[in-house]
Amino acid sequence: MTAWIADGAWWPDTVFRAAILTLPALLAGCDGGDSHAHAAEPGTPPAPYEPPAPTENRARALVETALQVDLATQQAAATVSIAPSQQPGISFDIGALEIASVTSALGTLRFRQQEGRLDIGVPATEEPFEIVIDYRFEAQDDFNGWMPETGVSFLWPGFCGNLFPCRDAPAAGQRYRLNVTGVPEGKTAIYPQRIPAAAPGYMPALALGDYMALALGTTSDGTEVKLWYLPGEAEQAISGTAYLTPSMDFFEQTYGPYAFGDVVGSVSVRWGQGRFGGMEHHPFWHVASEAIGSPEIHAHEAAHGWFGNGVRIACWEDFVLSEGTASYLAARALSPQGIDLWPDYECRLQRVCGDERINTVARPAGCNAIELRDHPLWSDVPYMKGAFFLKQVAELVGADTLDDSLSSFYRERFGTAARMENLVEHLRSAFPSESLRIDAIANGWLYQRACPSVPDQGCR
Ligand SMILES: [Zn+2]
Repeated sequence: MTAWIADGAWWPDTVFRAAILTLPALLAGCDGGDSHAHAAEPGTPPAPYEPPAPTENRARALVETALQVDLATQQAAATVSIAPSQQPGISFDIGALEIASVTSALGTLRFRQQEGRLDIGVPATEEPFEIVIDYRFEAQDDFNGWMPETGVSFLWPGFCGNLFPCRDAPAAGQRYRLNVTGVPEGKTAIYPQRIPAAAPGYMPALALGDYMALALGTTSDGTEVKLWYLPGEAEQAISGTAYLTPSMDFFEQTYGPYAFGDVVGSVSVRWGQGRFGGMEHHPFWHVASEAIGSPEIHAHEAAHGWFGNGVRIACWEDFVLSEGTASYLAARALSPQGIDLWPDYECRLQRVCGDERINTVARPAGCNAIELRDHPLWSDVPYMKGAFFLKQVAELVGADTLDDSLSSFYRERFGTAARMENLVEHLRSAFPSESLRIDAIANGWLYQRACPSVPDQGCR
């Protein structure tokens, strides 16, 4: 059994550390009420702690989740640090998990499960409060959780609750720690031991296989870039990742520091025939073995470290903020390396614009009113219309100047969730003399269905 170790010692003091609650903090969750009625006689021993009733509280943020996952038994423990709150209770999305127990430094906590939601009775606190949820997860086979047959986890867009108690909304960010046991003899488990910056629920990921690791290089900021590939893939995987270290370097130097670790890389995953692409599981993003030779996919998944993860999307309707920007950034990073993605993007745009069954508005109205996996927006539309929106702004203000503005947006919004219109407004403010034209470009590419322009070139 081999479990690949991402960085130095982990599982330090914070994990399984009992929550320390000051008495005033604890009392903040109690009813102050009629103090006379509850006044204890001198010398009376304190009443035993009565755990609060389970209460729904989805507004209370999660700070960090440390997952201890046993693949052999499918038993797991989530040690969750929850944010201070004046309101008691905490709620999680739990999909098909079987919850065994919930405990804290105060003892056993009361909980209830209903309709894929777990409500736990925790007091209001003035400090972060730590709980431990012991549970069992089911194996999945439809790209909706841990898939032992395929050897990968797949939690996007809203399936984190099939692997651990989480929040499945894209805006919900928290840090993660992972430790995986029960790895079959001879297999290697690839996963980050830490995700040190706030990330959405679909970020934690695991891949199991006969992996070989290759160090690709180090960026000027000192980020080590690696590749994990499977037997028979060496040639394709190495040629596909030949541009990855300079691309990471370009992103760091152009848009700002990388936040998800000192070691990053592409992990080949056998998603199966016809499943081309990747998934932005930073710092070890997944690339389908069918796409392992594509420099674009490696650069695109790396770019999500800045847009999609570094800056999260506020709603699924803002998918274009993640995918359009990552597509544009991949083209920016590969261009100085002699790879021009735009002819291929033009053909993809042409296909999108010319097919009434595919074409949609890139940024539909609403917030989380759609189920992305079953919605027409889950198409190439946000990728291509979003990329061409930024390309046209670049033609207006200059690509380097636009990069500066994307960088300031990333730095201002890092660790938070943003809407696509926040980026449009940021660009309007950055280029006030062009704000009307930027509005027109945004309206054309993002808010109407018809494409403002369709490339006229021969595409296969
Ligand atoms: Zn993407």
